[in-house]
Formats: sequence, C-alpha cells, structure tokens
Amino acid sequence: MAIDGPSGVGKSTVARLLARRLGVPVLDTGATYRAVALEVLEAGIDLDDREAVLAAVGRADIELQPTADGGLEVMLDGRPVGDRIRTPEVSAATSRVSVHPEIRARLVALQRRVAARFGAVVEGRDIGSVVFPETLHKFFLDARPAVRADRRHLELVASGKDSSYQQVLRDIEERDARDRGRPDSPLICDETYHVIDSSDLTPERIVDRMVATIRRTSGARTPP
Ligand code: C5P
Repeated sequence: MAIDGPSGVGKSTVARLLARRLGVPVLDTGATYRAVALEVLEAGIDLDDREAVLAAVGRADIELQPTADGGLEVMLDGRPVGDRIRTPEVSAATSRVSVHPEIRARLVALQRRVAARFGAVVEGRDIGSVVFPETLHKFFLDARPAVRADRRHLELVASGKDSSYQQVLRDIEERDARDRGRPDSPLICDETYHVIDSSDLTPERIVDRMVATIRRTSGARTPP
C-alpha cells in the first residue's frame, strides 16, 4: 500500500492506523530522509556543499529495524534516530538533502528491500510514482494548506515546543514547493492514485475509505 502527499497532511497517523488494521508494518520513508539530514547537520556540513553532503551520507550507516510494536525504526550509525529527526531544523534540511539523486537512489533501494521482506504500508512523496509504481493500492492524501499548518502547529505546541502558526505555514509552503519542484522524483499525483482530501475527515474515516477501496480493488482483480 502506498500513501503519498504533501507535508502535514496526516499521512503518518493514517498509515499507522491502516497498517494496524491490515496487520503489516508501516514504513515512514520520510524518516529515512530525515536521518540523512540529521547526519549532515550533526557533521556541521554546509547544506549547499553538494560534494560534502554526499560524502557524509556515503559514510553514514542507515538501516531500518523492526520494532516490538510492529513498526520499522530508522537506525543511524547503530542508534535509533528517535525524536532527533523531528525538529523544524531537520524538517527544513530534509527537503534540501532529498533533492540529490544519489541520496534518493540509496534510500529507495533500502525502502524496497525492507518493504519486500516484510510487506508494508509505505508512506512518503514518491512511493506510488517511483518506489512501488506497480502496487495496486495508491492513495494521495491532500488537505488545504491552512488546515495542514494548523495541525502541525498544534502538534508542536502539544509537545511543548515554541511555535508560530504563520511560521509553520511558511515552512510547509516552502517544503511543498521544493518537493513538487525537484527534477528527481517530485511529489506528483496522477490517475493511478485514489485521492482523499483529509481536511474535514478524521483519520478513522480516511482509513475506512482506504480499506473499502482496497477491498473493492482487490475484489475486482480476483477471478470469479
Ligand atoms: O514525510 P516527512 O515530512 O517526514 O518528510 C520529510 C521530507 O523528506 C519531505 O519534505 C521530503 O523532502 C522528503 N521525502 C522525500 N521522499 C519521500 C519521503 C520524504 O523526498 N518518499
């Protein structure tokens, strides 16, 4: 199952719920790109220095490890990345490092290897278009930018972080523009996706729709 869509649209929550219903792990591919950005930031490398960024990433050991609760955790140099990848600085750096085709090729190979081994609900930006274009079940989750910014802002406040709604909205719009505009694997939606606007739906309702669509699609492909 592939779930793509822009930042702050609720992909992670929905992917987790869907994976639980289907009894498979969830693979958050954004976390793999975030781990790369963390490596670069921790090494103090200038994000505009392409060669230095690629060299640092080349040295990094990035793996996905199954967790006790059925998830897949990103390990960077042998340590779980945890919340270190969830800061606004890492978010901004991630959309900059993820433009490099060399980095994408390495992470896509890792994502394919792990998802093929465990089977998974895979969420990201290019899952249905590049990583698993053949999958039968592709969902594109969207929502109005103001709704996405509001959700992200409330999440940050709830976790005790300083946050300004206007700043969150600007950050989201900037990341979206970079993700949609990059030449390699941009965020796109075509007719192979089932589009769901999550603006006015709860995560449970979205998952209900997904499960119904998966049943319908699988049923349509099953010989009588
Ligand atoms: O989904 P999340 O917000 O964690 O993704 C962080 C960033 O990682 C995105 O803004 C995007 O630049 C990058 N990303 C990507 N391809 C994916 C998943 C995430 O380029 N499949």
